[in-house]
Amino acid sequence: MVATSHDVMLDIELYQPTDEANALALAESLGKDGWLLGGGQDTYGWLKDRNKTASAMIELTQVDAWKGIKETSDGIEIGAVTQPVF
Ligand SMILES: Cc1cc2nc3c(=O)[nH]c(=O)nc-3n(C[C@H](O)[C@H](O)[C@H](O)COP(=O)(O)OP(=O)(O)OC[C@H]3O[C@@H](n4cnc5c(N)ncnc54)[C@H](O)[C@@H]3O)c2cc1C
Repeated sequence: MVATSHDVMLDIELYQPTDEANALALAESLGKDGWLLGGGQDTYGWLKDRNKTASAMIELTQVDAWKGIKETSDGIEIGAVTQPVF
């Protein structure tokens, strides 16, 4: 079966937390209704194709605590939303 792609997604509430505590609180309070959004590479295709739906998205890329690379006593820690620098 071929998916039908649309130019726009359905209306979705967008949350853009910038601190970890707020992001976790949103995820907790929205539960299954809160779609976690990383880079959106998979998500935007699914939503536009109507393969999956979400009523709210929590964009994680602005949480500063989850960005960057740092040395720890065990090795190196790479934050989950660290972006490459070219
Ligand atoms: C043109 C193109 C080329 C690609 N090439 C490659 C390739 O060469 N190699 C490869 O491996 N992949 C490739 N991919 C696939 C894509 O890059 C990966 O699937 C990528 O890892 C998606 O990450 P994202 O952050 O954009 O996901 P998103 O679309 O943001 O999220 C994907 C899923 O993960 C969930 N999610 C996101 N963040 C979290 C989190 N922190 N905790 C829990 N759940 C979370 C979302 O709710 C969603 O269900 C390609 C995709 C495209 C469109």
